[in-house]
Amino acid sequence: MVKSKKIRVHPKNCVGCLTCQLACSFTYTDRFNPLEARIIVEWSPEGSKIVFTDECTDCGICAEYCFYGALEKIEAGD
Ligand code: SF4
Ligand code: SF4
Repeated sequence: MVKSKKIRVHPKNCVGCLTCQLACSFTYTDRFNPLEARIIVEWSPEGSKIVFTDECTDCGICAEYCFYGALEKIEAGD
């Protein structure tokens, strides 16, 4: 499990909706299967544990589908 270099995580904003995992899974496997995602979210009220697998490409699609501000794409220069 690795930290993403392109996505900043804000664990306390995460509501555990798993939309990020579904978006990643669909992008890379054409299936909506959170278990096949390259991002793994373990929700907790104190702040979710959010990690990326070694296969993560840093494409940022998961961040685009996080509507709660828990995943923030880091733009160049940030
Ligand atoms: S990181 Fe965002 S999209 Fe993923 S589970 Fe948390 S709130 Fe949902
Ligand atoms: S950055 Fe791309 S590959 Fe990595 S977890 Fe998000 S959607 Fe999946």
